[in-house]
Amino acid sequence: MTTVTPVRSSEAPLQLDAFIDGRAARSGKTFSVINPATGDVYAEVADCTAEIAAEAVDAAVAAFASWKKTTAPQRSQLLKAWHAEIICNQESLARALSSEMGKPYTEALGEIAYAAAYVELYAEEATRIYGETFPSQHAHKRLFANRQPVGPVYAVTPWNFPAAMVTRKIAPALAAGCTAIVKPAEQSPVTALLLAGLWQKVGGPAGTLQVLTASDPAAVSQVMFDSAKIRKLTFTGSTDVGRMLYEQSARTIKRVSLELGGHAPFIVFADADIEKAVNEVMLCKFRNAGQTCVCTNRIYVQRPILEAFNAALSKRVQALRMGDPADPDTQIGPLVDADALAKVKRHVADAVAKGAKVLVGGDSPQGLYFSPTVLADVAPGMEILTEETFGPVAPVLAFDDEDEVIRLANDTPYGLAAYVYTRDLSRAFRVSESLEYGIVGVNDGAPSTAQAPFGGTKDSGIGREGGKWGLEEYLEVRYVSIALDQ
Ligand code: NAD
Repeated sequence: MTTVTPVRSSEAPLQLDAFIDGRAARSGKTFSVINPATGDVYAEVADCTAEIAAEAVDAAVAAFASWKKTTAPQRSQLLKAWHAEIICNQESLARALSSEMGKPYTEALGEIAYAAAYVELYAEEATRIYGETFPSQHAHKRLFANRQPVGPVYAVTPWNFPAAMVTRKIAPALAAGCTAIVKPAEQSPVTALLLAGLWQKVGGPAGTLQVLTASDPAAVSQVMFDSAKIRKLTFTGSTDVGRMLYEQSARTIKRVSLELGGHAPFIVFADADIEKAVNEVMLCKFRNAGQTCVCTNRIYVQRPILEAFNAALSKRVQALRMGDPADPDTQIGPLVDADALAKVKRHVADAVAKGAKVLVGGDSPQGLYFSPTVLADVAPGMEILTEETFGPVAPVLAFDDEDEVIRLANDTPYGLAAYVYTRDLSRAFRVSESLEYGIVGVNDGAPSTAQAPFGGTKDSGIGREGGKWGLEEYLEVRYVSIALDQ
C-alpha cells in the first residue's frame, strides 16, 4: 500500500496491506471492513500479528535515531507537503472514510479538512519549539532548558473520526521529532492507511509513520506495552479501554495521553433565543449520527421555555435527511455496527419504560439505521443519563434554577465537553467557570478546532490535543547546566 487507491463500490473489496517500515506488510490473514450502510465487505485488510508489531517497534526505533536529528524546518516542509496531498485527495479520502464507517459524504469531506488542519497547524508549530535560559546563583554557570522529542509513540485511534484522530496525534508527534505507530480501530483502518500512503508519497522516511492493522488489538498492543523503547501511548477511545491501557503503560513508565468518553450536558436558559439554541443543539447532537465524544447526551432546558424548545427541536429533527451516506444530501447515516445499534435501542427502550415520551423518531427503520430522535420527560434513573449513547437521540430534561442545573451537569464521572446557551454575559461566565469540563461551548455547539486545546477531566482523560498544548505532549524538557572555566 503506497498510494491512494481509487475507491470502488461494493463489487470487489479493496485488498490492503499494513504499512510497516515503509513497506506493505501482510501476515497471510486478513479481516473484513464492513460498509455499515450496505453490509458489504468494503475492504480486506492485513491482520497483523505480534511478530509484525515487533518489526514495527524496531523500525520506529531505528527511524527515530535519524528523524530526531532533522531540523525543524525540514519536518515542517514535509508536513506542509503532506497537508497539500491530503487536501488534493480530499474527495477520495472522504469517500473511503464514508464507506468504511458510514459517515455521510458531505460530513466526511469536512472531517478530511479538519484532519488536514492539524497537519497544517503542526507544520507551523514545528518551527516554534523554543527553549529557555534562566539565571544561576553562580557567576560561572549558564543554565538552559530545551525540548526533546519523547521518542517512538504508540497511537491507538477510534473508528468515529478515522482521519482526524490520526492527524491530531501524528502531526504533532512528527513535528516534535517523534516516530509513530498507529493502530487504527478495526472498523475503520482504511483512511489511516491512505493517509500513511500520502506521507510516504511526499517523502516521509520509512519507519516515521507506520500503520499496524489488526483484528485483535490486545495482542499487537501487548508488544508495545512490553517494549521500553516505545516511550509514549496516545489513546482515543472508550474510558474502559483507556483505563486498561493506562495501567499497562505503567510497567515501562510511558508518557500517556488519553482522550476518552464523555457525557456532555447542554444547558439552555430561558433568556436564550430558542431558534439559535436549537441550531447549536442540532450541530452538537446530530453530527456523525450522534457518534461523537463531544455530542450532547443531556439537554437541560429551563422550564418557562421547555414546551417551545421541544417543539422547535422536534421540527428540525423531523426534517433531517437520513439515507445513503454516499449521497451528498444525506445528513444521518447508519450507526457503525450492530453493537452500536443495540446500545441506542436499549437506551431508548429503558427511557420509554421509565416514563420518557418519544416526540420524534424512536425506531430503527432498516439495517443499522436509527431514526433521529427527541425524547421528552427524561428523568434521573434512566440509563441514557449516565451512559454514553453514541447515537442520534436527544434527551430533554427540565430545570428551574442555575445552581440546580450546575449541580446536575457536574453529576457525572465524565468531564469532556459541556455547553451553555444564554444571552446573559454574567451568567455565561458564572456557569462556564462552574462546569467541571475540559471544553465549554458558550452559545457554541461546535467549539472543536485545530488550534484549541481538546481534552477532558476526570474519566474523560489526561492531556490535551490541538494547538500548542498538543505539541507539548510529545516533548520532554531537557535541562542543561554549563560550568565555564574560571
Ligand atoms: P474503543 O475503546 O472500543 O476502541 C478504541 C481503540 O482501542 C480501537 O483502536 C480499538 O481497537 C482499541 N482497543 C480496544 N480494545 C483494546 C485492547 N484490549 N487493547 C488495545 N487496544 C484496544 O472505542 P471506540 O468504540 O473505537 O470509540 C468510541 C469511544 O471513543 C467513545 O467512548 C468516544 O467517546 C471515545 N472518543 C473520544 C474522543 C476524545 O477525543 N475524547 C474522540 C473520539 C472518540
